[in-house]
Amino acid sequence: AAKYTGGDRGREHTSALDATAQHHAELAAALRRGLELGEFRLLYQPIVELPAGTVSGVEALVRWHPTGGPVISPAEFIPVAEHSGLILDLGAWIMDAACADAALWQRDHGSAGPRVNINVSARQLLDPDLPGMVADALHRHGLTPDRITIEITETAVFAGGAALETVRELRELGVGLALDDFGTGHSSLTLLRTCPVTTLKVDKSFIDDLNGTAEQEAIASSLSTIASTMGLRAVAEGVETRDQAERLHALGYRYAQGFYFARPVPASEIAALLDDPVLAS
Ligand code: C2E
Ligand code: MG
Ligand code: MG
Ligand code: MG
Repeated sequence: AAKYTGGDRGREHTSALDATAQHHAELAAALRRGLELGEFRLLYQPIVELPAGTVSGVEALVRWHPTGGPVISPAEFIPVAEHSGLILDLGAWIMDAACADAALWQRDHGSAGPRVNINVSARQLLDPDLPGMVADALHRHGLTPDRITIEITETAVFAGGAALETVRELRELGVGLALDDFGTGHSSLTLLRTCPVTTLKVDKSFIDDLNGTAEQEAIASSLSTIASTMGLRAVAEGVETRDQAERLHALGYRYAQGFYFARPVPASEIAALLDDPVLAS
């Protein structure tokens, strides 16, 4: 119960900050233990080709299963992992686990096996060892670089001078590069001139009310045109309805991802989706 006098407010504010800092420190310690204990799992969400809905790739999405507790979503722990630097070790684990699954799919399904998209955070792009870490994971699992695509965000590329150089090195390895949440940053179009990406993942916010306004359609349509003119793939993110899927196809989108097609699932459930188009039509 704060008394709104200047002095008290200052004190309450400081202790609230301390509490947050302490919470973060505890969470960071728990994350580190969780990594040692093997409490992280990857789910995979299909990226489908329109209009049939056949699975073209999958995106790896990490989950934390602390012993005895509920599953924790990446939105909660990735920021803490970034801040504490643990994202470097966690990111290496994610890269290794995703490459292991990609290798199994390639073994079982050959070139029809899904390519795997792997998210890399801002802090990882500032790590000069990232391209080496990726090359090493590919090598250990006998994968060619074209089997994986690394997802980065505009904000991450702008985080520091070295980030763009690291992105170029990744591209030189031969892995695909996707700009995630495309259109939500401050200089999305500028970035396209300097950043050697292969895929634009058009943010869910541009997909959400496609059936609402002409403006929204104009933006979604322009983004797909920009992508195809530049020889890039455009993937529509967060597709939740059949109407959206049909509009997107009409606007020139060839790839889509979202709960309408499939939720993120364990690796073991992907094979069943490969045989069957996920889009019920
Ligand atoms: P993102 O990379 O943009 O991933 C897409 C997020 O949207 C996922 O949430 C996915 O479950 C969710 N999503 C997919 N389709 C739909 C839909 O139709 N509707 C709605 N409402 N949501 C949909 P998730 O798995 O909770 O991940 C959240 C974010 O956490 C990711 O956003 C990414 O930024 C980060 N993240 C997840 N896994 C990793 C990882 O392995 N490494 C790193 N560095 N970040 C990760
Ligand atoms: Mg992503
Ligand atoms: Mg995304
Ligand atoms: Mg997103």
